[in-house]
Amino acid sequence: MILVTGGAGYIGSHLVKLLLKKGKEVVIFDSLETGHTETVEILKKYGKLKFVQGNLKNLDEIRGAFLVNKIDAVVHFAAFSQVAESVSNPQKYYYNNIYGTLNLLNAMLEFDVKKMVFSSTAAVYGEPEYIPIDENHPQNPINPYGNTKLMIERILKDYDKAYGFKSVSLRYFNAVGADSDAEIGEWHEPETHLIPNILNADSEKTFKMFGTDYDTKDGTCVRDYINVEDLALAHIRALEYLNNGGQTDCFNLGTSEGNSVKEVFNICEKVKGVTIPLEVFPARAGDPAVLLAENKKAKRILNWQPEKDLEYSVKTAYNYTISNKH
Ligand code: UDP
Repeated sequence: MILVTGGAGYIGSHLVKLLLKKGKEVVIFDSLETGHTETVEILKKYGKLKFVQGNLKNLDEIRGAFLVNKIDAVVHFAAFSQVAESVSNPQKYYYNNIYGTLNLLNAMLEFDVKKMVFSSTAAVYGEPEYIPIDENHPQNPINPYGNTKLMIERILKDYDKAYGFKSVSLRYFNAVGADSDAEIGEWHEPETHLIPNILNADSEKTFKMFGTDYDTKDGTCVRDYINVEDLALAHIRALEYLNNGGQTDCFNLGTSEGNSVKEVFNICEKVKGVTIPLEVFPARAGDPAVLLAENKKAKRILNWQPEKDLEYSVKTAYNYTISNKH
């Protein structure tokens, strides 16, 4: 049985759906502070799914999930993940993300579960020193969110040395899209991400484009947009890698192809088939001009590669927004 913390959230729910479709038994452990009970209900129809509402900050709650279920491995998504909020309220981020993970690790060691796939981020690199960013790029996060993820990666390495605890840290670039059935997708409150903000814009709530004088092909930021179902598949590959005796390691998950904010905006207009109202704003603090993954390591070692392009991701995101009015 696989325990998925944060399985009611955006990326976690896509992994749970894929695991269930592959016939795996899954336990979701989620506080529902940012995840959604509606998502869990949708997932239940795909197979053997248990749901535990609990908070990792409470050791007894996470121990309880291990006591009553035979867990073989953990995929750990549960975390707060809003960069701006992490700057204004670092205590919330360090306490939740670090302390919560330490409790999870306590329970895993107690119950002798020593395999984890960890949801990390490109934010562990900070301001890029070169492009594309490979896994050996210096790690200097520029916000508390990135710091929490880097600290956890380091904790995991130390737990390997001391306890033989094996983990894979997956460093996501920009996760986008929704599932092909338009049942689950990106549902954040408040929504800060590019594609939902473009698709949800209308005459009352125009889309705000942050920064048009970057040193890039068209003046707007370039990012590496990776489809959420492709991301989910990478977690399955990482679990297989650990089951086959793989060593603790980290992998970038991205396409190695960059798209500018203007390009994304144009694709959204094409998919939606309307003119989307747009306003230009100054650049957001801490947004680097270009972030691009070198993804060869995941291709070589995890036997994973992205299959869905950006237009497909936008189409699925759009289908999800029209079939799910929150
Ligand atoms: N962005 C934008 N308007 C928005 C949201 C995002 O112009 O309403 C830009 C943002 O400045 C960045 C890119 O879109 O260059 C991707 O931002 P997002 O928040 O989706 O992901 P991030 O790269 O910050 O993790």
